[in-house]
Amino acid sequence: MSNALVAKVKELKKGIGILCPKCNEEMEITKKDISHDFKKKKEYNRMIYICRKDDVWVTIEVPQNTAN
Ligand SMILES: [Zn+2]
Repeated sequence: MSNALVAKVKELKKGIGILCPKCNEEMEITKKDISHDFKKKKEYNRMIYICRKDDVWVTIEVPQNTAN
């Protein structure tokens, strides 16, 4: 694999680098799915991050690429 691709895979594995507000360590993605906002007719990539030792959860919803 090229270096760029290795970096990309690494990036995907660690998600977008959300830090736990308690211990300040990088949180782990525990779930990925898609949510829908029917009013806005948009779809969102939903990711749930967890810090197991602190029992902290974060949900992030990122709009999928759509032409505005
Ligand atoms: Zn933590």
